[in-house]
Amino acid sequence: MNLQESIAAVEQRIAAACERSGRKREEIQLIAVTKTIGIEQTRDVISHGLIHLGENRWQDAQGKWRAISGDEEGATGATNHEGPAIQWHFIGSLQTNKVKDVIGRFTYIHSLDRLSLAQSIAKRASQLGITVPCFIQVNVSGEDSKHGISPDQLLSFAGEVAALPGLSLAGLMTMAPYEAEPEDARPVFRGLRELRDQLNGSGNVPYPVNGLSMGMSNDFDVAVEEGATWLRLGTILLG
Ligand SMILES: *Cc1c(COP(=O)(O)O)cnc(C)c1O
Repeated sequence: MNLQESIAAVEQRIAAACERSGRKREEIQLIAVTKTIGIEQTRDVISHGLIHLGENRWQDAQGKWRAISGDEEGATGATNHEGPAIQWHFIGSLQTNKVKDVIGRFTYIHSLDRLSLAQSIAKRASQLGITVPCFIQVNVSGEDSKHGISPDQLLSFAGEVAALPGLSLAGLMTMAPYEAEPEDARPVFRGLRELRDQLNGSGNVPYPVNGLSMGMSNDFDVAVEEGATWLRLGTILLG
């Protein structure tokens, strides 16, 4: 399948999942995870109308970022002078020493998983005079290999993060364990949605935290059914 066909197939499946769950397509945004492809292929993705790009390591992303969104002065917002406004999403584990490179270039951070990282983002964003929407990564499945805070820490963590300047809470993010059967990911996605609802009912955050960043190539239909607002799709789009 070429990219256009892959996008059409994904769109069809999203539409079907929306139909099954009574959701609207506009509630869901697609992030094309470009971590495995180069600059030219990434430009091709953009030319197909995908403006949300996901990367998980600054070392791998920087060449693409500079080619597509960079300007001579460096880090002042991920603008793109020629085409549509590209929004970069940092979806991988973020080391504190990369915060200075990533903040100001990536619009969204999906992997907020510790207070020291939140403080470092807050400091850098405040220096730049921006507010960075972040997703708290939650280890819903409890798998050792997964990053993210544990569900029982979420309410207090979210409260502490929401009090910091320079960042806002856009939502929660999780990764389901890889399962042969996508259906097996459902409890994880449902769990994240329930945690979000709990958080919003808790009084710990001063504004509603609505986003759910969940669903990858193998399990995005189920994620849509369970309320995903951001899908992070790599292989199914790009091979
Ligand atoms: C690579 C990656 C994805 C995309 O995975 P696919 O299975 O290729 O769709 C999504 N989220 C994160 C955090 C990733 O690292």
